Amino acid sequence: MDKGLLIVISGPSGVGKGTICKELLKDFNDIEVSVSATTREPREGEIDGVNYYYKTKEEFKDMIDRDNFLEYAQVHGNYYGTPKKNVLEKLELGKNILLEIDIQGALKVKDEYPHGVFIFVVPPSMEELKNRIIGRGTETEDSIETRFNNAYEEMKFINKYDYGIINDKLELAVEKIKCIITAEKCKVSRENYNI
Ligand code: 5GP
Repeated sequence: MDKGLLIVISGPSGVGKGTICKELLKDFNDIEVSVSATTREPREGEIDGVNYYYKTKEEFKDMIDRDNFLEYAQVHGNYYGTPKKNVLEKLELGKNILLEIDIQGALKVKDEYPHGVFIFVVPPSMEELKNRIIGRGTETEDSIETRFNNAYEEMKFINKYDYGIINDKLELAVEKIKCIITAEKCKVSRENYNI
C-alpha cells in the first residue's frame, strides 16, 4: 500500500468542492492538492500551474499518448486529467494527496487505488445547486445548463463512494471531511507500528 493517503473528492459543479478543499488545506499542512491539466479556458483570476495546467487539445492528446495521466475524462465538453508522475511519487514519499476530480475520473482511480478515500459532496437541493452555479457568475448560459443537467447524472454515482457529505453549511461539511481524513489515517491497515 502507498505510504500517503489518496483522498478523492467529487460532486456536481457548483456544489462547493473547491471551497471545501481550500478550507481543508488550511488545517492539514501535510495534504497536497494535485493540479490537473485541462483544455478548458482559464476563468478570470485563474493562474496556469496553480488552478490548472491549461493545455490545447493537441497538448492534452500528446500527454494521453505519453501515458502521463493517472486518469483523464471529458467533463462538460472539455478534457481534464490528473498528471500521474507527481501523484505517485508524492504518495510513495508518504505525502497525502487530494484529487478534486469528476466521477468518471474518480471511478478509474478507484479501480487502481481502492484503498484511497472517496468522498462525494452533495448539494442541499438541486434548486440550491442551480442557484450556486448561476451565482458564481463564471459560466455562460449554455455551460450552466450543461453543468446542471450533468449534475443529475452524476448524483446517481454517489453509492460508488465511501462517504457522502451534504454541503449545506460549509464549516460543518469541512469539519466532517476533516474527521474522515483523521479517522482514515488512524486505520490499523494503514499504520506501520514500530513496536
Ligand atoms: P471546473 O471546470 O469547474 O474547474 O471543473 C469541472 C469538473 O472537472 C469538476 O467536476 C472537477 O472536479 C472536474 N475535474 C477537475 N480536474 C479534473 C481531473 O484531473 N480529472 C477529472 N476526471 N475531472 C477533473
